[in-house]
Amino acid sequence: MDDRFDAVVVGAGFAGLYMLHKLRGLGLAVRVFEAGDGVGGTWYWNRYPGARCDVESIEYSYGFDEELEQEWEWTERYATQPEILRYLEHVADRFDLKRDIRFNTRVASATFDDGTNRWTVRTEQGDEVDSQFLIMATGCLSAANMPVFPGQETYEGRILHTGQWPHEPVDLTGLKVGVIGTGSSAIQSIPIMAEQAEDLVVFQRTATYSVPAHNRPLDKEELADVKRHYRDLRRANRQTMVGFGGWQTPSEYAALSCDDDTRRRVLDERWARGGLSFLGGFTDSLLLPDSNELVAEYVRDKIRNIVKDPSLAEKLAPRQVIGCKRLCVDTGYYDTFNRDNVRLVDINEDPIEELTPTGIRTRSGSFDFDVIVFATGFDAMTGALLRVDIRGTDGIPLQDAWAEGPKTYLGLSTPSFPNMFMITGPGSPSVLTNMVTSIEQHVEWIADCITHVGNLGRIEATPDATEAWIDHVNMIASFTLFPTCNSWYLGANIPGKKRVFMPLLGFQPYDVKCQEVAANGYEGFDISQPAPVRR
Ligand code: FAD
Ligand code: NAP
Repeated sequence: MDDRFDAVVVGAGFAGLYMLHKLRGLGLAVRVFEAGDGVGGTWYWNRYPGARCDVESIEYSYGFDEELEQEWEWTERYATQPEILRYLEHVADRFDLKRDIRFNTRVASATFDDGTNRWTVRTEQGDEVDSQFLIMATGCLSAANMPVFPGQETYEGRILHTGQWPHEPVDLTGLKVGVIGTGSSAIQSIPIMAEQAEDLVVFQRTATYSVPAHNRPLDKEELADVKRHYRDLRRANRQTMVGFGGWQTPSEYAALSCDDDTRRRVLDERWARGGLSFLGGFTDSLLLPDSNELVAEYVRDKIRNIVKDPSLAEKLAPRQVIGCKRLCVDTGYYDTFNRDNVRLVDINEDPIEELTPTGIRTRSGSFDFDVIVFATGFDAMTGALLRVDIRGTDGIPLQDAWAEGPKTYLGLSTPSFPNMFMITGPGSPSVLTNMVTSIEQHVEWIADCITHVGNLGRIEATPDATEAWIDHVNMIASFTLFPTCNSWYLGANIPGKKRVFMPLLGFQPYDVKCQEVAANGYEGFDISQPAPVRR
């Protein structure tokens, strides 16, 4: 019967593809539903100019298959979106995954049946299938945040969201372009759009810390060397707090206790190396405000040195804790504001009042635009899950169960929703890590768990284990400076969203905890395994 499966997986990005491969390897019948018309997830949707990874390509890739690892050749330190998409296409073809994926198919609802312990999954396209397990591989950053400004419907130009960028090339040559937002997507795209546009106006709500990517081609010898030691690198990455950088020596310095020369040297070295490891220079900078301020001021000084107009430099210099919002990695972002065709509007001083037929009107003036780019990010971590009408035991909607914020055990499972797993769900390290490392760890844990539960079985996180886990996630966050600003980690970018710190800090201890839970017979879960019916 082709509408009855052992597992339904929602999403065909890094997570869904590996989950499918893994479960099929266990002999399970699996169906994947994917809203897009191809594989890739993030790398299918985010086609804006300049999109690329900010974890280095050699690490931002699967480690589960040694042949795949050996045959794929990354060309740059930070691969572009088209290259990462080609990689995921290659993975899908290499493991013959597409035959089990239904593209252009959005899952609308999933309902658990207490009697049969099975899920009924319905799609917007009219499919209805039945499955023992439901695995949400819907992505932490896949539900676009599209704010609606007064008058938006009257605007006659083109509106684009970075996370839903058209597939055909968008030529901005000679156009007047407005960009709303200054997060990672904006930081990557603004320098390139500025080269094309006649006039580019950036509307900034919160100034952003960004460190240089120092992107470069990877040479053959360097790649060959990595490939010789790939096992070692993947193992080392699983021993880190962030799932990457396993070959780098962890910092031994606290910014507050080292002398000025040492501190300067560490910062200079990290700035020269570029990339996200800039924040790893000191052991205390995400814990202590005074330490953080030393690092933040270093970056502000860099901005002052790059941006020629001092008052503009001050507007671009962030004031919040560095690292509290995700650090950005750029190529020429601040320097772009030295161009004659680029302007910055600080919307705290001069708020956007409305969109007009020709552009944007702020409190103090009007701007005409052919195109307005919304680089406004995502309803992160919970958005894609809550956009599906998921009903657990007694018909309880996930939206109600999570009204006070997401409640998960290990970020993998939530009480009252048996046999449902989330890949990189809230309460797991996910977005604070190299996500491919986290995805592989989750996929492998879920596959082992499903094997343990067996067909006909049922597994459900207990409320007690879940409450204790939420307390643990909050306790770890409370030791840090992460809760001090309005980041998407807290849901603060979405009006009305409950303010809860969603990811868990620390990949390695989390991995150990997951292994212990499994070794202790899936501690914190209720498992029932009905005896097979004898004839
Ligand atoms: P996704 O890739 O988001 O895939 C989820 C899929 O689920 C999507 O294709 C979506 O269409 C589908 N889906 C969702 N809901 C439904 C539904 N109801 N029905 C059917 N299909 C559905 N992380 C890093 O670690 N390093 C980086 O350098 C990095 N760069 C990034 C750059 C950008 C521009 C963005 C937006 C994110 C980046 N991330 C990065 C995070 C990135 O999302 C993850 O690394 C990773 O790609 C997530 O894979 P995934 O499969 O979990 O989710
Ligand atoms: P983002 O970081 O959430 O940035 C969105 C920007 O839009 C912010 O500047 C935000 O301001 C602004 N904004 C949102 N709503 C607004 C409104 N109503 N009015 C005015 N401004 C508004 O989103 P993103 O840039 O798409 O990045 C999201 C995440 O995806 C990143 O943090 C990262 O994890 C990942 N990513 C990675 C890369 C990479 O380098 N590989 C690239 C892109 C994305 P506030 O800050 O004030 O909320």
